[in-house]
Amino acid sequence: MNKHYEQLLPYLERNHAYQAALALFSWDAETLAPISASEYTAKYVGILSEEAYHILICDEVKELLHKLSSKKEYDSLTVSEQAIVRLLQKEYDKMSCIPAKEYREFSELCAAAHPIYCRAKQTGKFEDFAPTLEKLIDYTRRFASYRAKNGESLYNILLNDYEEGFTTEVLDDFFSKVREAIVPLLKKVTEKNNTIDKSYNISFYPVDIQSGFCRFLSGYLGFDFNRGVIAESEHPFTTSLHNHDVRITNHYYSDNLESSMFSAIHETGHALYEMGVDDSITGTPAGSGISMGMHESQSRFYENMIGRSKDFWIPLFPKLKETYPEELEQVSLDDFIAGINKAEPGLIRTEADELTYPLHILIRYELEKDIFEGNCNIADLPKLWAKKYEEYLGVTPDNDGEGILQDIHWALASFGYFPSYAIGSAIAAQLYDYLAQRMPLSDYLKEGNLVPVREYLRDHIHKYGASYPTNELLKQVTGEEFNPDYYIRYLTEKYTTLYHL
Ligand SMILES: [Zn+2]
Repeated sequence: MNKHYEQLLPYLERNHAYQAALALFSWDAETLAPISASEYTAKYVGILSEEAYHILICDEVKELLHKLSSKKEYDSLTVSEQAIVRLLQKEYDKMSCIPAKEYREFSELCAAAHPIYCRAKQTGKFEDFAPTLEKLIDYTRRFASYRAKNGESLYNILLNDYEEGFTTEVLDDFFSKVREAIVPLLKKVTEKNNTIDKSYNISFYPVDIQSGFCRFLSGYLGFDFNRGVIAESEHPFTTSLHNHDVRITNHYYSDNLESSMFSAIHETGHALYEMGVDDSITGTPAGSGISMGMHESQSRFYENMIGRSKDFWIPLFPKLKETYPEELEQVSLDDFIAGINKAEPGLIRTEADELTYPLHILIRYELEKDIFEGNCNIADLPKLWAKKYEEYLGVTPDNDGEGILQDIHWALASFGYFPSYAIGSAIAAQLYDYLAQRMPLSDYLKEGNLVPVREYLRDHIHKYGASYPTNELLKQVTGEEFNPDYYIRYLTEKYTTLYHL
């Protein structure tokens, strides 16, 4: 092993120990911690975060990274070691260019922004949050400008933090395809929406029975209960301490059958990614999924391409009917498949179906781009939001709470994050198209055999963690870089068939 790389390892390990503790605190806060714990916990989380920061952002690490960046040393490293050095350097550059005083002020602003945002969302008044949002945007812009090289656009810098290589040029092309194909398709679907009846979904489904069925579903997909646990939280999520401790949550609504089942499948998709990371890189900067978009591609692949297909439910539907014999007595497999795929325009992103989902993201992308390219006033955002919702989805929010304030991302200064959700769906479609050609996917699903798909994804994607950038990995797997055409074709074919258009 390279001598300088070896010297770097203890820093990585110490940092990861703090990161794992922080992940555990955050998991606990969402699942089991008593309500009164939060104030004290926040203090300890602050201390741990600062310690973790100083372990990596220090002269010793800087010096080691510098030595490892020379061509001779870099070339002597393995692929995953190179990735670890690259990712660490990226994080280092990002953090170290911000003056400590400004970073502290920014952290304080973020902490203060949270309750202001929550109140504004509750009362539905954007103007109460607008001055804070403006400050968050100013800081984000300033921090990005410290990293901008040769007139690089600030929004591209932000996008690059979530998805390397997915610039506005790539995304403009992607989202214009979404807009041109999906907006007219949704209009046709909406006109025929009364043809699908899914009233069965709203009945009484006891929470403990739902939880048992969801646990079964996760295991069916390959969730390893020796390496993972499932708990309940307000919003479902996945977190990973390392590849032998991956945790997912779910939320059960007693009057909704679908919600928890598809959350279980979605989060299991995330969990399989984290559980599949190779032991040799877990606990390092390369020991987790490469990006938000790639992660979402795994969860959505399982949730939508697999989990909403008829093939998947052929062996499972009898068990579902046995679980809820009265509620589903009159429901056939075809009724159920139509029901779980029904598309309806709505106001809320997190409740959106597969067809309308990318339009919610398109709107956020267009607005973020306008904000960071200086093309709009913050005060005008709700008006622009409403106009786009009317144009693309045919719905208008009654207040800002169900409009521009519905997502917490901007209140956390997470600008440039949204596109990765749609990128994930598009990558999922690309992978699905490839896998369906490569193996008898449909037969496997009908037989209830999920092993070949899981092993394929583990051996070609999961085990590498963050060793390769998204596009490089995609090319290795499918022979092609990101190509949104598969996604557009997938949605068009699926909904044209479902609605007999
Ligand atoms: Zn997800």
